[in-house]
Amino acid sequence: MAILEVKDVNKRFGGLQALGNVNLSVQDNTVHAIIGPNGAGKSTLLNCLVGKLIPDTGSVMFDGQSVLGRKPYEICQMGISRVFQTPEIFGDLTVMENMMIPLFAKRDGAFRMHAIEAVSSEKGLREEAEKMLDEVNMLDKRNMHSASMSRGDKRRLEMAMCLIQKPRLLLLDEPTAGMARADTNNTIDLLKEIKAKRDITIAIIEHDMHVVFSLADRITVLAQGTPLVEDTPENIKGHPKVKEAYLGE
Ligand code: ADP
Ligand code: MG
Repeated sequence: MAILEVKDVNKRFGGLQALGNVNLSVQDNTVHAIIGPNGAGKSTLLNCLVGKLIPDTGSVMFDGQSVLGRKPYEICQMGISRVFQTPEIFGDLTVMENMMIPLFAKRDGAFRMHAIEAVSSEKGLREEAEKMLDEVNMLDKRNMHSASMSRGDKRRLEMAMCLIQKPRLLLLDEPTAGMARADTNNTIDLLKEIKAKRDITIAIIEHDMHVVFSLADRITVLAQGTPLVEDTPENIKGHPKVKEAYLGE
């Protein structure tokens, strides 16, 4: 069953056709990678899935319901959660305080800074946050100032902030960008663990082919705003069109 169904999506920025007739089906409980050169439209596509951008034409269905016209927090409540290309955590807050933000936002549909303290004092929510931090091996860092953490830990925290919302579809935009090899490998392991433990579908945009081939069940290659090919990792590796358009061979 397809949990996400994108049909004939077009998106223009002035004279630039960023997405042209994008069709994409992501099957439930799989890891689906979207790859393609810089400027191919990968982030634009993701933005269309989470309500940050509205396609000019086409449809985006999640679990049988249209996401178009819904606000980002409504889409989040439907079960789609997203990790951005650059970590979007609050550096001034501790790890634990950051974890409270999505819990609060999911409950009340909005986020107000002054409410963090009140929410943090709710025992049930604290326990939930601690359990999630433990799952991503960050419990010992719960009182750390977020700004002082490594890039890998920031990513890990951001992932935990997404997962605590219990998404059915997790969207990742280049989760290992700028990471050292060790952190990249940790991220691969973490995603494998998450996938094994939960009923979750992951759509991942990724440049690092080692990450893609370690995780993906299916791969869609996007080039100039249009899917070029969609197949298994084995078939993508040897695909002549992919070699030409993406791997530059
Ligand atoms: P990718 O993530 O595959 O590198 P993007 O989706 O970020 O590509 O961008 C696709 C194209 O759309 C690029 O040419 C980019 O410059 C352009 N683009 C992206 N966002 C905007 C925007 N908000 N306004 C104008 N052009 C944009
Ligand atoms: Mg991008």
